[in-house]
Amino acid sequence: MKSLAAMRPSTPINLQPMKKGLIIILDGLGDRPSPDLEGKTPLEAANTPFMDGLVSRGCCGLVDPLYPGVPVDTHTGCAALMGVAPKDQRRLARGSVEAAGIGLEVEPGDVVIRANCATLGDNGLIIDRRAGRISEGVDTLCESLENLVIADSVLASVFPASHHRAVLRLRGPNLSSAITGTDPGCGGDSRIQVSRALDPANENAVNTAAILNEFSHRACEILGQHPLNQQRASNGELAANGLLFRGVGTVFHPRNLITHLGLKAVVITGERTLNGLGRLSGFDVIQQPGFTGLSDTDLAGKFHSAQHALKDNDLVYVHIKAADLFSHSMDARGKKAFLEQLDKVMNVHVNADCVIAIGADHSTDSNTGRHCGDPVPAVLWSSGCRVDGETTFGETACTRGGLGRISGNGFLLTVLDHMGVLSNYHSFDSVFIGKA
Ligand SMILES: [Zn+2]
Repeated sequence: MKSLAAMRPSTPINLQPMKKGLIIILDGLGDRPSPDLEGKTPLEAANTPFMDGLVSRGCCGLVDPLYPGVPVDTHTGCAALMGVAPKDQRRLARGSVEAAGIGLEVEPGDVVIRANCATLGDNGLIIDRRAGRISEGVDTLCESLENLVIADSVLASVFPASHHRAVLRLRGPNLSSAITGTDPGCGGDSRIQVSRALDPANENAVNTAAILNEFSHRACEILGQHPLNQQRASNGELAANGLLFRGVGTVFHPRNLITHLGLKAVVITGERTLNGLGRLSGFDVIQQPGFTGLSDTDLAGKFHSAQHALKDNDLVYVHIKAADLFSHSMDARGKKAFLEQLDKVMNVHVNADCVIAIGADHSTDSNTGRHCGDPVPAVLWSSGCRVDGETTFGETACTRGGLGRISGNGFLLTVLDHMGVLSNYHSFDSVFIGKA
């Protein structure tokens, strides 16, 4: 008799969806009440008749991206909504996603790490984590950090990504990603950190941490003398004289429910992180010059592309970044205004007869400028769906909504069920359901 595991389908299922799906990810949408908005959140304070209409005709709720109460990064929150198997969501490092986002050539055994160009002072003091948000010349700086030999056997190279961001690739024998980065993050210690092995008994990790620390030191020496930085200094600009590392990862292809089901999906984005997630997941990615990760992004163009993409795809993701940026800048009023502008665009351009879902990767608190662990508001509409009686899209209404409080994975499964692609529990591997 065959075991249950052997009876599970190992190849894509290729169910024909009854409906197509449009999932709109509003980065950092969830928020906390703001004194600048009379105690409302930006979403509650915003005039959003289109999104309110979806709630009135559909079901809303609160979504925990990973675990209740735990803040997550963009790539983790989006991974859940994009079908990455729960157990792979935590394994997915930012470095691996960013490397895929820039199309970096990688081999098994390589370690890839996200890097920020930064301005450093004496003794590793961090003066600016983003070197004045340097955007021009990063490729030139990275060229000076190509193919450096570290500890006799490891080849280290840095490749430019978006703006001040880059990716470090370490290539050599016995490398490990089980190490900490050197970036202390936004708060607390403002000095560059020493990379350490997560487990001091892991010899490969101890060696890899030492390699990263040596490379970090070499990079500071090279960048400190770089002509571009001398020019920046003479222009009164902050020098990009160091790199901060975080999100240490390896070459890793996470298991994905959407491709497992044989669905064709596409991501429309202006962000390399989403580009990387899409590529790692086996989705197509649509990026046009006007699609940015900023508030000036071509909103109408993104939704126009989505309408077209729905013809040839089963599931279309649209990612909008700017709400998160306003929260990081502690600009609740700006976030509210952006959501109103977005709602007007969606009112004109989102009219497909498909399952429409709006959610977010995480909440970002406009009062502190930091990601927080509050669940995110979400809404689902599909013709013939249940109607929960709520009439506005906001954090408070969503606490009463018919979706209840579910995980990012659960929200995606609900969308897929409305598309008619989940025939029953045994039709797909349970690795794609449950807790991360
Ligand atoms: Zn985010």
